Amino acid sequence: MDGLILRAAQVGVTVKRDVSGKTLTSFKSGGKVKYLFLPRSVKELKRTIELLASCDVSCKIVGGGSNLLLPDEGYAGALVKLTRLSGIGVCDGEITADAGVKLPRLAKLAAENGLSGLEFACGIPAEVGGATVNNAGAFGQMLSDVLKEVVVLSKDGRIKILSAARLGFGWHASSFPEGCVVLCVKFRLQKDDPVAIESRMRQMTERRRLTQPREPSAGSVFRRANGVPAAVFVEKTGLKGLKIGGAELSTKHCNFIVNKGGAATEDFFRVAETVRKKVADDFGVLLQYEVERICSPKSN
Ligand SMILES: Cc1cc2nc3c(=O)[nH]c(=O)nc-3n(C[C@H](O)[C@H](O)[C@H](O)COP(=O)(O)OP(=O)(O)OC[C@H]3O[C@@H](n4cnc5c(N)ncnc54)[C@H](O)[C@@H]3O)c2cc1C
Repeated sequence: MDGLILRAAQVGVTVKRDVSGKTLTSFKSGGKVKYLFLPRSVKELKRTIELLASCDVSCKIVGGGSNLLLPDEGYAGALVKLTRLSGIGVCDGEITADAGVKLPRLAKLAAENGLSGLEFACGIPAEVGGATVNNAGAFGQMLSDVLKEVVVLSKDGRIKILSAARLGFGWHASSFPEGCVVLCVKFRLQKDDPVAIESRMRQMTERRRLTQPREPSAGSVFRRANGVPAAVFVEKTGLKGLKIGGAELSTKHCNFIVNKGGAATEDFFRVAETVRKKVADDFGVLLQYEVERICSPKSN
């Protein structure tokens, strides 16, 4: 038996071997992930991280996988997915949500309790941890607008509470201390009529339905450039509908690359690089990636 699996069983942490990357990311590409850890509690997460460090196995935390592309050749380290940390509670106009809570569930709970400020999150297929690190946002609002504090597991194994003001939030960006894991987030919200909140959520959902593709994707491919949405440049390249392998530059929203069936991560980046080159040639703008490409550690 694999030594790491054996040690994981000895210390009581949950791990799976050779899990298809396609099941872990919203674009549904990527080869096998050697180890997938699914801790059910903070205690188990701590034991997992200690175990991986002691065995010298590289590890990466993942949430909903909606901003990630995994390598086609597989990932030779460990992914630690926090989906099972999914507690959530409401108290005095505040919601406290664990890292693995899905944003649509968070937005729905806020609406049911007449708490406004998270309507924009209802259509984002992320989990609280990943969305906080990326400061997810839409329709002119972002998570940091309503975020009060974050409980993290720091690199030295201690649990700390960080106030929002210390986290350097910007549009789709933050400056969390390196190596820390988001465990739990507290949101401060405004009281409002649940019917009005739900109506706003329906409008946002409808806008998404009309403007964004339904096929698997990793959300927006490129960041804004000098404050201008990347789609403004991409639209003018005439490359909409460009298809390489199973990946296509969406005909519905040109800052999305969709998986038309069986797309490899390499297909995604061949489409993306073609777009980047054309935008650079035509407009002198080098687009930066919004999506994150994960590289495999050499081997473990
Ligand atoms: C259809 C679609 C629509 C989208 N719409 C939007 C939108 O409107 N607005 C928007 O902002 N984004 C949008 N996205 C992109 C994506 O949802 C966001 O980038 C989101 O913040 C990623 O969250 P996640 O949980 O999926 O994180 P992942 O993709 O799993 O991870 C993202 C990063 O966060 C890190 N991370 C994850 N969890 C933790 C944790 N607990 N502690 C520390 N680090 C962690 C990972 O290591 C990784 O570096 C969309 C994506 C899709 C597929």
